[in-house]
Amino acid sequence: MRRFAAIVLIIILIFPSLALGADATQLTGFSPAASNAQRDWEQKFRAIPSPDNLREYMKRLSARPHHVGSPYDKENAEWILSKFKEWGFDAHIETFDVLFPTPKTRVLEMLEPTKFTAKLEEPVVADDPTTSQRAEQLPTYNAYSIDGDVTAPLVYVNYGLPKDYEDLDRLGISVKGAIVIARYGNSWRGIKPKVAAEHGAIGCIIYSDPQDDGYSAGDVFPQGPMRNANGVQRGSVMDFASSNPGDPLTPGFVAASSTPRLAIKDAKSITKIPVLPISYSDAQPLLAAMKGPLAPQSWRGGLPITYHVGPGPAKVHLKLAFNWDLKPVNDVIAKIPGSTDPGQWIVRGNHHDGWVNGADDPVSGQVALLEEARALGELLKQGWKPKRTIIYCAWDGEEPMLLGSTEWAEAHADELKQHAVVYINSDDNVRGFLQMGGSHTLEQFTNSVARDIEDPETKMSTWKRRQAHDIFLAKSAEDRAELRQRPDLRLDPLGSGTDYTAFLDHLGIASLDLFYAGEDSEGIYHSIYDDYYWYSHFADTDFVYGRALSQTIGTAVLRMADADLLPFEFTDFADTIQQYTKELEKLLKEQQDTITERNRQLEDDVFRASSDPRQPMVAPQHEDVLPFLNFAPLHNAADMLTQSADRYKQALAKLKLGDSVSPQSLTALNEILMQSERRLLTDEGLPRRSWYKHMLYAPGVYTGYNPKTVPSVREAIDQKRASEADQEILRVAKVLKDEAALIDQATEQVKAMTK
Ligand SMILES: [Zn+2]
Repeated sequence: MRRFAAIVLIIILIFPSLALGADATQLTGFSPAASNAQRDWEQKFRAIPSPDNLREYMKRLSARPHHVGSPYDKENAEWILSKFKEWGFDAHIETFDVLFPTPKTRVLEMLEPTKFTAKLEEPVVADDPTTSQRAEQLPTYNAYSIDGDVTAPLVYVNYGLPKDYEDLDRLGISVKGAIVIARYGNSWRGIKPKVAAEHGAIGCIIYSDPQDDGYSAGDVFPQGPMRNANGVQRGSVMDFASSNPGDPLTPGFVAASSTPRLAIKDAKSITKIPVLPISYSDAQPLLAAMKGPLAPQSWRGGLPITYHVGPGPAKVHLKLAFNWDLKPVNDVIAKIPGSTDPGQWIVRGNHHDGWVNGADDPVSGQVALLEEARALGELLKQGWKPKRTIIYCAWDGEEPMLLGSTEWAEAHADELKQHAVVYINSDDNVRGFLQMGGSHTLEQFTNSVARDIEDPETKMSTWKRRQAHDIFLAKSAEDRAELRQRPDLRLDPLGSGTDYTAFLDHLGIASLDLFYAGEDSEGIYHSIYDDYYWYSHFADTDFVYGRALSQTIGTAVLRMADADLLPFEFTDFADTIQQYTKELEKLLKEQQDTITERNRQLEDDVFRASSDPRQPMVAPQHEDVLPFLNFAPLHNAADMLTQSADRYKQALAKLKLGDSVSPQSLTALNEILMQSERRLLTDEGLPRRSWYKHMLYAPGVYTGYNPKTVPSVREAIDQKRASEADQEILRVAKVLKDEAALIDQATEQVKAMTK
């Protein structure tokens, strides 16, 4: 961190012009007069959020464990409800009954070559008062692991990703009938038991290696922020990416009392094999007892042992059983009705449930949302009236897998498709750089907001600071040139792992996910140590980045709610699609080159010749090279989109917003723009996972939270399904052409208004 501070100073010396200047430029979507009035309201808004309030809310919300179904989870929902009401919102709680398993039996013991029983417990830390709330803490476990009682030799599988199993094949090691031990990291956790089961393993253990978030990465809690020897990462392993998030028993439908529920054995998103997370103090004896080949260099972690792959001789017994109960999730929903366009909704959300006390995840984001809501309440008292309806949502049940937000989105699907303009999400928040993810039709809008927010540490704009940081880290001259010249910083595409998923991927509502991060290290994720003591010692200790998040998202909400013309923009979007098209071609070429080279090495006997006869390497199988694909439809559609985006931009430049434009014509134009993200869906959805309907963004089936853009094409290439890839190129091209047609319709409407 200190080293980082020095770096930032150097950047300021090189770029002396980075200070935040008062920006008087006209806001997109506002007339000159409305833009000035809006800037006044926004400035008033940004002066309101207070770090002291954020601190007090965090103390309240993280005072006791508050997972789904717990007493304090309910109390928090009711407290949040009372706050929304106090601040002038029309608020209520919506409750859904969902499947939420909790542990009944957890046994992990080594039977051979020595005996060892895993503790499976996180000890109390004397200085940290909430760690002693034993009776209310959920034990360490992975939610939606299937019940199981298995005994087998251990195999170490590194991070447990498909590539790791290819490396195991080279070593001649199979996991069939084995229990695998994988380390946390490099992917979403649920991928590990999924891939293990696909390779024939009968159980899965996931441990936190100190190299990733323990002592190799920094001082451990309570001396520092990193994971101590007994800290365990709880977390959901629901296979949401291959099926759907939300209640596993009512996929695609709201979990209402009248909805028929699947039997648990038929729920697709529950794991195929039992899986348990453990600490590194529990993992070390197991790993130390393993023999077999030495683990490849990149597989070795930070424990003071020699890492072997196995199988065995360590033999373990894993026994897990869960209470498969329905539990209520309590979403708190609060509204400010729109004054002139009440049928256009700005939806803003952050979850309130945690795995335990959850001060960082999710309370650091929830308190920013609450302070935004209080500030909007203050503006209402001062006479501000939003044009559009604003809906604030404090979700429950995010941790088990987006239960509260998904069920609410499914319950209100028809209304949301008709009325929702945008969904803006946050989750946890610490110090650092503004992280901007979302729909690329909102890229210019998001950049415009970031330019108006002051970074608490440097006092430059959060946009400038982020740009400088990206330039500093850029890997090529080409990337640096783009960062300096392109007017907007690129938004990260959204994958999953937080509550925007149903809104974006299932309903086609343009979405944003915003937070600050990059300066605080953390190794307490989903443990009992993620609490107020940790957050107030090692994260945003003075809550100024909490205030910055309130200011950032609150400004976005205000601007979206008040704009005459919705600030969707399509040239950045089209540029992104052009980029994705090039990436897909490159991906195919790389696949072809890799397989061609490997086949040649097989023919030339390279594997046998370079193998150590005492530690022989197993050569891979010959594989057919993927044929060329026809990307022409995608190029044509992307070009069509680029042209439509340019025409809309040109038409808009001639439109003078103000008194001469009728409200009816603006509403008509906004109604077209609101549907622009919906056009990117197909009814049939993605192959084999039809709940996911967005053709441009999805979580990856084998990456989980990480996004796959143009997912059906990209994954068909990844998984070497050539004819499917060709088919999917056509489907994506069709969606992009439809989008271009919608933009043309908007252009015609703008032209009619300009006459
Ligand atoms: Zn969270």
